Amino acid sequence: MAVRAALRGLLGRFRRRTQASVPPGGVRGAAQGAAAAQLGKKVAVVDYVEPSPQGTRWGLGGTCVNVGCIPKKLMHHAALLGGMIRDAPHYGWEMPQQVPHDWSKMAEAVQNYVKSLNWGHRVQLQERKVSYFNMKASFVNEHVVRGVTKGGKETLLSAKHIVIATGGRPKYPTHIEGAVEHGITSDDIFWLKESPGKTLVVGASYVALECAGFLTGLGLDTTVMMRSIPLRGFDQQMSALVTDYMASHGTRFLRGCTALRVKRLLDNQLQVTWKDLASGREDMDTFNTVLWAVGRVPETRNLNLEKAGVNTNPESKKILVDAREATSVPHIYAIGDTAEGRPELTPTAIMAGRLLAQRLCDQSSDLMDYDNVPTTVFTPLEYGCVGLSEEAAVARHGEEHVEVYHAYYKPLEFTVAERDASQCYIKMVCLRKPPKPVLGLHFLGPNAGEVTQGFALGIKCGASYAQVMRTVGIHPTCAEEVTKLRITKRSGLDSTVTGC
Ligand code: NDP
Repeated sequence: MAVRAALRGLLGRFRRRTQASVPPGGVRGAAQGAAAAQLGKKVAVVDYVEPSPQGTRWGLGGTCVNVGCIPKKLMHHAALLGGMIRDAPHYGWEMPQQVPHDWSKMAEAVQNYVKSLNWGHRVQLQERKVSYFNMKASFVNEHVVRGVTKGGKETLLSAKHIVIATGGRPKYPTHIEGAVEHGITSDDIFWLKESPGKTLVVGASYVALECAGFLTGLGLDTTVMMRSIPLRGFDQQMSALVTDYMASHGTRFLRGCTALRVKRLLDNQLQVTWKDLASGREDMDTFNTVLWAVGRVPETRNLNLEKAGVNTNPESKKILVDAREATSVPHIYAIGDTAEGRPELTPTAIMAGRLLAQRLCDQSSDLMDYDNVPTTVFTPLEYGCVGLSEEAAVARHGEEHVEVYHAYYKPLEFTVAERDASQCYIKMVCLRKPPKPVLGLHFLGPNAGEVTQGFALGIKCGASYAQVMRTVGIHPTCAEEVTKLRITKRSGLDSTVTGC
């Protein structure tokens, strides 16, 4: 998930035509602006957070900081701590029978940390002498942007180069009766002061599974309603293991179902009616909270892109860009979630922005390489991956040219605590022909992000299976299991790791 709000990063010969007030607001991915300012350019950032339909608002830093990666990872960590509390007696800790969790306390701590990041971003922009405008931006023409403050005050800004990095917002299924009125999205969940209680999460991708994962881990009755497959676009064997683990740890799954309507009952509960797509049967249940996690829409609708001549994909509403991140107008660029075909990941947008700033300042001609971008899904059992899924590798190279090495392993930490490790699994997808270049790595287990990050460097550098096998493992870790993958799927041999 990347950024949020209006137009960001007016770079170069920026000229403000009228004076405007500059209250604090939201801005993220300003790495690009900050980098350009550091390189000696005059830079302005225009940014504005439209409150969610439920009225949630936040500060400087965009989606990732305020309503995405940061609060999500902290709440995921809070949920993992619950697992450690359950493990603790096995290691001699004498625990009370019940260890209740206080949502309000957790939420306040997480929100305070996010607010400290908002402050940090503000200071950073000031230190780098980036002019910040808390205004909603739209194009007047290809060189002029109009900024409008919350109070309606207008400012016209012109610049030599303009970068659009407005991110996206959660989608609401407006065709479902009561969806907007009674549902919340990831824009709201992290800012709830009280526990969401019994929750229905609709959707089956990153956002849905991560939220459902930490809600279950915090002890809440959680149901995921998915209409088709989990984690579309990811390796499906891994995705099935992710949801298997969640199901065996208390998340309820309604598979092949789609919501029809949401009604608020007299006791304030939400009654949700859904349809089973296979049988056509309708069913219902009541929840305290309904969380829509059905995808995101790019924030391009209100930018008046047509006035600047910037072309979008009419279906996705994303901005069409070339390898230099340039739009159909050569001095207007788009990075992050607004740009067509780019991964919706903050670090990717930041790196693309930084490289763009360097190119615009004639410091480098390097282009962003969008291949082999690693990522991690922070579900209760984390899933880290880089490169191609098994399906994508087979589709690209043909089954006979692909070799998959795999292993079911048991993290050492799971042993004493007698945790079930059925879904702890690794697979490395390689080309079959020596030196067997690694096409993709998929890791399901604790600290998947930490494990995947290092191997991503190797894969980026073109590592082969033989090189990974010559990498000495760090014992005893889960990551070392990657360096010991000897069993091929093709062999049909048991891939369960035993012993050291
Ligand atoms: P996605 O677009 O990836 O997935 C949308 C999900 O919602 C799919 O499961 C889809 O099902 C389902 N869906 C869509 N419409 C409906 C409907 N009407 N009823 C029921 N289900 C529906 O969205 P996300 O919001 O999860 O993620 C957006 C992006 O954010 C991702 O591309 C990801 O890159 C990024 N992200 C990254 C994270 C990280 O780095 N850890 C964390 C979270 C997000 P179907 O498959 O059937 O269409």
